[in-house]
Amino acid sequence: MVHETGYYDLLGVSPKATQDELKKAYRKLALKYHPDKNPSGGDKFKHISQAYEVLSDPKKRDLYDQGGEQAIKEGGMGGGSSPMDIFNMFFGGGGRMQRERRGKNVIHQLGVTLEEMYKGTTRKLGLQKNVICEKCEGYGGKKGTLEKCSTCKGKGVQIRVQQIGPGMIQQIQSMCSDCQGQGEKFNSKDRCKNCNGHKVERKKKIIEVNIDKGMKDGQRITFQGEGDQEPGLEPGDVIIVLDQKDHDVFQRQDNHLVMKMKIKLVEALCGFKKTIHTLDNRTLIISTQPGEVIKHGDIKCVQNEGMPLYRDPYEKGELFIHFEVEFPDNHFLPEHLMYQLERLLPPREDLMITDDMEEVELSGVDVQSQQRSRSREAYEVDGDDDEGPRGGVQCQTQ
Ligand SMILES: [Zn+2]
Ligand SMILES: [Zn+2]
Repeated sequence: MVHETGYYDLLGVSPKATQDELKKAYRKLALKYHPDKNPSGGDKFKHISQAYEVLSDPKKRDLYDQGGEQAIKEGGMGGGSSPMDIFNMFFGGGGRMQRERRGKNVIHQLGVTLEEMYKGTTRKLGLQKNVICEKCEGYGGKKGTLEKCSTCKGKGVQIRVQQIGPGMIQQIQSMCSDCQGQGEKFNSKDRCKNCNGHKVERKKKIIEVNIDKGMKDGQRITFQGEGDQEPGLEPGDVIIVLDQKDHDVFQRQDNHLVMKMKIKLVEALCGFKKTIHTLDNRTLIISTQPGEVIKHGDIKCVQNEGMPLYRDPYEKGELFIHFEVEFPDNHFLPEHLMYQLERLLPPREDLMITDDMEEVELSGVDVQSQQRSRSREAYEVDGDDDEGPRGGVQCQTQ
């Protein structure tokens, strides 16, 4: 039983989430709430990063599951890295030191269907980016008309003197807002009309993203030097992160595909032929061997019908089929025919009834509401005794 779920709630996953599920959740949210994309997102980006930092580390996650945020703080395990560090580590955009003369990388998420990852495709993506202004070639105005900023006298900073007490003054330095710290600026008539002196302009650029067969959820495709342009800086990269959409029939597990198939009781017992529609529009026929019985929960597989392997697409994973046997409803057979059915089925075991046995009633159960109240109970018990040992949790994790 998990005591506190705030971090899981932040990432929108269940406390039972696997590392892959955590990664996917963080990836989606971090891209959505990154200050570049969502300047009004407030502290959300920070909170998501904190939650991911704790839950992605098995030791910290254990600690959190047992004692919540409090335990993380007391264990001195919180707030190790800045949200940006976590983000850069995750998306591999780190190493800021060596790339100081480069612009920022721009990361975009691209939703891709399982069919597209199976067959491969090319997607066109329109991106807005800063490019060096064509009119002034990134100069910002008419050549040779750059003047010393009169506000800051060319220093780029403004110094304010403030009295902070009797006979005590303090100098406060701030960037000159008139010239944006450049120390120089254009007279309004000489300023480039196209970019308004900003040296760059927003332009739409179409990039073609090649989705190769077998590419995976979270895989990155890098377009070098396609990031925002800025005078004097080498542009950063545009990084496309693939986000695999859920599929109605197939779930992907690495290079394998997994599907559920409902079969009727008669098919489970007497055999069947069924079709499967593949991701590349073929139709497969599967059938049971004569005499073969498929039980509820049985898993069978078809070789080489999973996902193609990335960069080796003639090789494929496997297709796993998870069978669910549908039983007939109550009274599907008139009572007088039951005997005939029973005669054909494997015999039941005889039961000896003795006097000391008690006959009780078997009633129906609403499984869902039963489960709900059970989990509520667990939370309450857990919350009531903060000091008590959580034997249950420990036994489960060992
Ligand atoms: Zn100035
Ligand atoms: Zn311009």
